[in-house]
Amino acid sequence: MQNSLIDTYRQIQQEIHSLLIQAGRSADSCEILLASKQQPAEIIKNLLEAGHHLFGENYVQEALGKWPPLRASYPKLRLHLIGPLQTNKVAAALSLFDVIESVDRPKLAEMLAKEQQKQSLQKEYFVQVNTGSEDQKGGIPPQKTQELVVFCQNIGLKVKGLMTIPPADQHPAPHFSLLYSLAQRCGLKELSMGMSQDYPIAIRLGSTQLRLGTKIFGPRPPKNN
Ligand SMILES: *Cc1c(COP(=O)(O)O)cnc(C)c1O
Repeated sequence: MQNSLIDTYRQIQQEIHSLLIQAGRSADSCEILLASKQQPAEIIKNLLEAGHHLFGENYVQEALGKWPPLRASYPKLRLHLIGPLQTNKVAAALSLFDVIESVDRPKLAEMLAKEQQKQSLQKEYFVQVNTGSEDQKGGIPPQKTQELVVFCQNIGLKVKGLMTIPPADQHPAPHFSLLYSLAQRCGLKELSMGMSQDYPIAIRLGSTQLRLGTKIFGPRPPKNN
């Protein structure tokens, strides 16, 4: 079981390298973030042992229960928050995560800036864009993205790039292209886009960080996506 997890991981890593080369990109120009929500620490540990250090979690509470001991044992770990962040969880989130990928409103950005200062921390951020303008989904509307990026920068948040989760029922390509052009306009280099269903397309369209869950870990229990 553990061997097959690492085997799968290595295979996907190889495949991603090939896809990058095919796209005329260098093999190290796109990172793999493993989306480890609902995965127990014992499973995650195998990947850390195999040398993988980039992980993403969706829920602050779940991550706080799981990651502090792992962080102590694996100092190379980089942990991203990829799920929505409520303002009452900002302090907890900053105490654990290295990067927050779900900055999507000025109020949240202000709270993060304030708390960052209070905890004497300098974290990194992605602005999440709701490229499909879906009501139920987090993210800033595309037309307000640049304004929010500038706002974040002005209050001292180090914005590395943009993140999107395309609508489940649409072809992802236009969403990835939109994110790419928004990032260009904002002068940002990092693009967090591409999941298990669509990472080959995301690679062709300039992703610098894929977020993979089921492709590596297998299906999650149906509870939450
Ligand atoms: C769960 C999740 C992923 C991974 O999704 P898979 O389809 O399992 O690869 C990526 N990004 C976010 C924001 C997620 O919540």
